[in-house]
Amino acid sequence: MTRKYLVAGNWKMNGSLKANAELLSSIAAKTGEVAGVELLVCPTAVHLESVGKLLPAGVVLGAQNLSEQTKAGAFTGEILGSMLTELGVRYVLVGHSERRSLYGESDLRVAEKFKAAQAQNLVPVLCVGETLEERESDQTEGVLTRQLNAVIELCGIDSFANAVIAYEPVWAIGTGKTASPEQAQQAHAFIRGLLSKRNATIAGSIRLLYGGSVKPDNANELFACADIDGGLIGGASLKAADFLGIALAA
Ligand code: PEP
Repeated sequence: MTRKYLVAGNWKMNGSLKANAELLSSIAAKTGEVAGVELLVCPTAVHLESVGKLLPAGVVLGAQNLSEQTKAGAFTGEILGSMLTELGVRYVLVGHSERRSLYGESDLRVAEKFKAAQAQNLVPVLCVGETLEERESDQTEGVLTRQLNAVIELCGIDSFANAVIAYEPVWAIGTGKTASPEQAQQAHAFIRGLLSKRNATIAGSIRLLYGGSVKPDNANELFACADIDGGLIGGASLKAADFLGIALAA
C-alpha cells in the first residue's frame, strides 16, 4: 500500500499578515524540491483567508480547530466547519493535546469535532497521544485505545477512510524531546493494528503522522519507520528552511 507522505505545519497562535507572507514566499521558492510530498499549513483562523490567497502551488490549507456544531447559531467565538470550507480549507486538526489539556476537550468532544469536520468535507487530522506520566505508568496503549475508540464509536470505522491520525506524545510536543524512532514506530504500529482489527483496508491506507519536536535532523530516521507517513510539525514549521528540510526527509 503506497501512502503519500504528508508534512503538516501547525503554526499555533503565531504569525501576522507580514510574517505569514514572508514565510509562504520562502516556502514557495523551494516547493519544487519536495514535489512528492503533500504539504499542509495550518495558520490561525483569522489568517486562513490571507494565507489561502498566498498559498504556493502544492501546499494545501488547514485549520487548527472547528466547532462541533453543524449549524450556525449562538455560539460566540466558535467557527463552523462550513465557514472553513468556504475559505478553501481542506484539513482541520482535531484533538490537539493543547486543545485537550488547556481547553478541556474531552474524547467525546473531539469525536464530535471529527464528525462535524467530515460533514463539511474537511479531512480531520485526529491528534492522539499520551502524557509522560501515562507513558511511565505503561498506559500508552490504553490512552491511544480510549482516544481512538471515542471516534470509532461515534463516527464508525469507515470514517477513517477519509482522515489522518497524528500520534503526538504530549511529552514530546514543544519540549525538544523527540520520541525515538522505535517508540514512535511502536505507537504507530499499535494504532494501525487497532484499526486493522476493524477494517484492514482502511488501516493500510490511512496516513499516520508523527508529531513532537520533529526537526530536519531527526526527521529522516522517524520517516524511515514503516508506519510513519509524515509529520505534524509545530515550532519548526515557522521557519521555511526547517519545514522544507523536514519535508525533504519524507
Ligand atoms: C505540535 O504542536 O503539534 C507539535 C508537534 O509541536 P512541536 O513540533 O513544536 O513539538
